[in-house]
Amino acid sequence: PIPNYQASKDCLKDRVILITGAGDGIGKTLSITAAKHGATVLLLGRTTAKLANTYDEICALGAPEPAILAFDLSGASEDDYNTLAAAIETEYGRLDGLVHNASLLGRRSPIASYPADTWQRVMQVNVNAAFLLSKAMLPLLEIPAHSSMVFTSSSVGRTARAHWGAYGVSKFATEGLALTLADELDGISNVRCNTFNPGATRTAMRAGAYPAENPAAVKSAEELMPWYLYLLSDDSIGVSGEQLSY
Ligand code: NDP
Repeated sequence: PIPNYQASKDCLKDRVILITGAGDGIGKTLSITAAKHGATVLLLGRTTAKLANTYDEICALGAPEPAILAFDLSGASEDDYNTLAAAIETEYGRLDGLVHNASLLGRRSPIASYPADTWQRVMQVNVNAAFLLSKAMLPLLEIPAHSSMVFTSSSVGRTARAHWGAYGVSKFATEGLALTLADELDGISNVRCNTFNPGATRTAMRAGAYPAENPAAVKSAEELMPWYLYLLSDDSIGVSGEQLSY
């Protein structure tokens, strides 16, 4: 069982792993954790100052030097994704892991009154960007003998819940994208694709969704790390198309 999963210290040694939303919340904790386990982490996000903090924390640990990829998932064109992939190929030659983590919560509101512009923005970052990034990075992920794509989902992307609007619908689409890719790649590719629902976790997004909640009552992102380390390390080779939950 994954809660008791003990990742070895160097389970991600020499791996090149791209993590979106690496400047805050779960993505930041994951970036630092992956680096501690030996990975060279490519820190993608839209706020460079936050990415720089993650970068500094990783360097202070003496872990492999990460890279900062300042990239706004809401406005990027397909060309921008291809340019990013070409730069990664030139610098690193491959990708061993890709974690789709960045997301927008948007508005909590009934569909009947959901603002159309917010809907478009949430779907752009949570779904369209994940498609474009997956498509652009797939050739790089196909270079190593084994590689892993992890899609961050949510309980509202598995069971519909009123008033979660574009966010909930986007997470159903995240599951759909991951499972479609897993099925397409099954048996013909070294790339495995899985989804993970972290459940309530103490971050800015959680505080935005539940402003009255005492943050101390919610688990920390640290507690999720065994799942991510499992999904990114060789221990999950052969596991694809699975929908994991904390
Ligand atoms: P946070 O809001 O704390 O962090 C999200 C990160 O995504 C931020 O670093 C943010 O950048 C980045 N991001 C947002 N929009 C863009 C964009 N346009 N381009 C690039 N980066 C962007 O969220 P969490 O850490 O809580 O969530 C991480 C994942 O976990 C999400 O997919 C979320 O849906 C999922 N999840 C979280 C739960 C929770 O309780 N926290 C529960 C279930 C699922 P910036 O800091 O610059 O805004």
